[in-house]
Amino acid sequence: MSLQIRLATFYTALVGLVVVAFGWAVYARSTDILMSQIDVRLESAVKDANKVLTNRDIRDILITYDSSILIQIIDNNGELLVTTESTVEQLTGRIIDPDGFEIARDSRQSYYNEISLEDLHYMALSVPVMVGENITGVLQTGASLKEVDQLRADLLRSLVLIGLVITTLSASFGYYTTHSALMPLATVTQIATEITHSDDLSLRIPVNRRPPNEVGDLIFAFNETMERLEHLFNTQRRFLADVSHELRTPLTVLQGNAGLMRRMKSFDSQALESMSKEIARLTRMVEDLLLMAQAESGRLELDSTPVELDTVFLEIYQQARILAGENKHVHMVNIDQVQVMGDRDRLKQVLLNLVSNAIKYTRPDGNIYLEMIKENGEVCISVKDDGIGIHPDDLAYIFERFYRAEKSRTRFIDYDQKGFGLGLSIAYWIMQRHNGRIEVESEYGHGATFRMCMPLIPPVV
Ligand code: ADP
Repeated sequence: MSLQIRLATFYTALVGLVVVAFGWAVYARSTDILMSQIDVRLESAVKDANKVLTNRDIRDILITYDSSILIQIIDNNGELLVTTESTVEQLTGRIIDPDGFEIARDSRQSYYNEISLEDLHYMALSVPVMVGENITGVLQTGASLKEVDQLRADLLRSLVLIGLVITTLSASFGYYTTHSALMPLATVTQIATEITHSDDLSLRIPVNRRPPNEVGDLIFAFNETMERLEHLFNTQRRFLADVSHELRTPLTVLQGNAGLMRRMKSFDSQALESMSKEIARLTRMVEDLLLMAQAESGRLELDSTPVELDTVFLEIYQQARILAGENKHVHMVNIDQVQVMGDRDRLKQVLLNLVSNAIKYTRPDGNIYLEMIKENGEVCISVKDDGIGIHPDDLAYIFERFYRAEKSRTRFIDYDQKGFGLGLSIAYWIMQRHNGRIEVESEYGHGATFRMCMPLIPPVV
């Protein structure tokens, strides 16, 4: 059974149940009221008759009494002594309630009895007539329940009708509301199926206005997931293309040089140098890939020992000056004595990556500024350059694996310096594992600032 039918049925059943309970309560209460009205009339007839029994001739009062009430006096032997004029043929000359007479006489208690006689339905009240301690007879009154029955039947008919109308309306309403609430789910299913069949991750659920409910949230989350998946998928696809491309060039060079030497039957130092450059590049790439794979599969263990971060910082500064060569300038703005817990080699790797990127993406005669600052229980190292900067469109993705900013902008970089877009994602992962963070700011065309921050070792008190 579909969710829609199930929800609508449940809703209707619930409303039906409430309607039946309410109807039953109304019917029962109304019946009670009507019956108690009859009882009151019977009791007051008994009172009136009793009042005159002793001092006046009962016939006087009975003759003038309300014709809808039948009053009778029966002696102890069951002989009908006095009776009012009966409007009902079946009761003429008969005791209204023979059973009630006997019960009232024997028990000396008043007794109510609801009687159905052929098509007659009436209520009888039998009251013993006492003279001192002795019972002299039974006073019986009876009133027809015809009107009450009529009213009850009318009420029941109305209640059933109203109940049916309410239940039908609620069934249609339940079906309509669940239908419109669940309709977007059908669209989600349809789009999901379309995506599966067509392998088209660019499909989205069309939403002109996001419904302000859980279904709206689901659609939003679905579209967001698809956005993310599409992006990841495109990144992977681009990476595959990039890696194949990157691999082909060095392999072609290696093959060419090896062929050349084989043909010449001698070692060529230029060819050998070119081959070792290609091998170094390939090795770097494979190492990065391996590290990334280990990090992602959780198989890479990091040390957690006290690290003098200022010494690492100094080492990187020295290395940066060598890497930058003559035409790029590395400046140390600030350094502080700092100890952190972590993996020295990995932290150095992060810093080296930031610094070598800064050098790579800085134009000749550009500047790189290194700064280390202690603040609020953490240490932040920033690497700032005045190079080409990062386009705002790329900023959000810069730490994603295999992401490289628009190729045209990195064209000026030497072939053997070109990276694979893995360095920053590895750095991001390392900083995360050190309970730290890495951030970037950039003014496109005017440089970028990378900042890595992590907690200091708290001082022992
Ligand atoms: P790569 O090995 O390609 O440099 P990274 O993950 O280290 O990989 O960097 C990803 C991309 O971020 C780079 O391709 C580059 O486009 C951009 N980038 C990183 N650092 C800088 C910087 N200092 N200035 C400009 N762009 C940068």
